[in-house]
Amino acid sequence: MLLRNETSSPVIEVLSVPTSTLAQDVQWGLCRRPKTLPCKYFYDEEGSRLFDRICDTEEYYPTRAEQGLLESIADELLERFRPTHLVELGSGAARKTRLLFRAQERRGKPLTYLPFDVSEAMLRESARALRKEFRWLAIHGLVGDYDRDLDRIPRQGRRLFAFLGGTIGNLTEEEGARFLGKLALTMGPEDRLLLGTDLLKDPAVLHRAYNDRQGLTAAFNKNVLRVINRELDADFDLDRFDHLAFFDADRAQIEMHLR
Ligand code: SAH
Repeated sequence: MLLRNETSSPVIEVLSVPTSTLAQDVQWGLCRRPKTLPCKYFYDEEGSRLFDRICDTEEYYPTRAEQGLLESIADELLERFRPTHLVELGSGAARKTRLLFRAQERRGKPLTYLPFDVSEAMLRESARALRKEFRWLAIHGLVGDYDRDLDRIPRQGRRLFAFLGGTIGNLTEEEGARFLGKLALTMGPEDRLLLGTDLLKDPAVLHRAYNDRQGLTAAFNKNVLRVINRELDADFDLDRFDHLAFFDADRAQIEMHLR
């Protein structure tokens, strides 16, 4: 499906329409021990907005850290890879990607941006905002699931894939390996991957990042239950659940739970 409202509007392409996958995933996940729910269902309109606000909290350092890194490498990165297309997996609000656009602007070269995200609302909103901010940028949004639709990303030009924000940490080790394997098959020899991921650090810093004082991360975590209530007519009482985020030293990862 290809939608184009007016010539200057960004193109938004829906790669696949999820059918009953939420019901299946929830049923499967809640039958496991411990119960589990896929991270992609966190990001409905409200969840995406909450995540965006989390990025602004004093405690959530990863966004600022990644922003600083991108600022320092953007020019060199683009000069070296000379991409014609930038595919961003899990693009969200595409905040940090703006640094790459500005660097490309300095080079005076054209670029087609292909933001790829499950959240159609977020994708449309960010594409609209980018259209205003970067008139020269060609935008071709892709609504899809990177568990399923990686091979449907258009193959053209020299593509720089970006997977930022430590989103790879949303995947289990097994899922992550599968994801990278599929991505490798999708990428051509001239394509490149820019992967943003965190390093191990003081667990207290990690703990604070996922337990912000405003309770935004808690609201974000619980929002998945609201999604299930709304979409599947379930009756989770959110007040009876606690947000529990902690660093698992054995697995060297932050875990978010609902108790
Ligand atoms: N890249 C941004 C946003 C990170 S949040 C940043 O660094 O700030 C993770 C994003 O990935 C969200 O926008 C969410 O909607 C998207 N996402 C989560 N699971 C996904 C999936 N399976 N397929 C595609 N996008 C997904």
